[in-house]
Amino acid sequence: MQSNFFKDTKYCPRCHDYVRYLQSLESSFCVDCGGKVRLFSTADKRAFLRSLKQEKTARRTGSKWVS
Ligand SMILES: [Zn+2]
Repeated sequence: MQSNFFKDTKYCPRCHDYVRYLQSLESSFCVDCGGKVRLFSTADKRAFLRSLKQEKTARRTGSKWVS
């Protein structure tokens, strides 16, 4: 099951980029520098959370119009 090793990319703070990573039990590691990677960069995480909030707000506003 070699395809499981490279599912996707994650953000590596050391490389300042989205990189391929190795998944271990506790965390994921950059294949380039071996550092820990995370799902999003800080900026992208903020944008992601903001978009979630906007979606909720939109839904709330939408339901007002519907009902
Ligand atoms: Zn790296």
